[in-house]
Amino acid sequence: MQKLKEKIIPNQKLSPELLDNLNAQFEVAGPDEVLLWAYHTFGSDMTLGTGFGPSGMFLIYRLWELGVEIPIFYLDTNLLFDETYKLKDRIEERYDFEITRVTPELSVDEQAEKYGDELWNKNPNRCCYLRKVRPLRNYLSDKRAWVTGIRRSQSESRRDTQFVEWDPENNVVKINPLASWTGDEVWNYIRSKGLPYNPLHDEGYPSIGCIPCTQPADGKTDDRRTGRWNGSDKTECGIHLPTQQKNGKKNKLTPNNK
Ligand code: SF4
Repeated sequence: MQKLKEKIIPNQKLSPELLDNLNAQFEVAGPDEVLLWAYHTFGSDMTLGTGFGPSGMFLIYRLWELGVEIPIFYLDTNLLFDETYKLKDRIEERYDFEITRVTPELSVDEQAEKYGDELWNKNPNRCCYLRKVRPLRNYLSDKRAWVTGIRRSQSESRRDTQFVEWDPENNVVKINPLASWTGDEVWNYIRSKGLPYNPLHDEGYPSIGCIPCTQPADGKTDDRRTGRWNGSDKTECGIHLPTQQKNGKKNKLTPNNK
């Protein structure tokens, strides 16, 4: 990656050509190179968002090992599993840092008063917008980049995920160091290092989000988002729109990239 480092300087503008070049190089690099490049480029104006899934466990560990100190946050919908909150506490203790809690404007009760009980059943898109999409947008409004754990193999809608892409919804650069990894690769790493993870994965939950919208799936933990929004065709909460849907064209960036 020496060649790559020579090409990038902090605050350099990310032209579409540079982005294509970077993504091509990251295809044969590893997550560490992506993280280090991102840190050299954005510094602490970059943040990692996690839902405490396996990819997040991997990325938090790699940041810690690399000595890369950036803010880490999670979207607390107030509807997460106890196991998820306990895992957050465990991570904070293990790595000795605080994970920022990003919350919706409305409590669950206030949301019920305004929109009716169990909005997640009647209109999950609106519920996700209120409890995840809007809080995320607010939180990222003063950031230049955010790191996510999404991977191409997780779902059809994520198959075009790039390592570095423009996120027009949040007006930031989105960094996906694990874009090309499979679920097995992430899990093998977690087990080889004895990293903490959500115990619900061992109880048949491949993907874990809010309690009302998460169900266990048949079979063992796998690579998909099985068990989320069962009974509907919804597969995403709206914070990770497919690359082509977001950009109209892959890797299209705004002119100044903040
Ligand atoms: S995952 Fe379900 S409960 Fe959570 S914000 Fe979305 S619709 Fe609401």
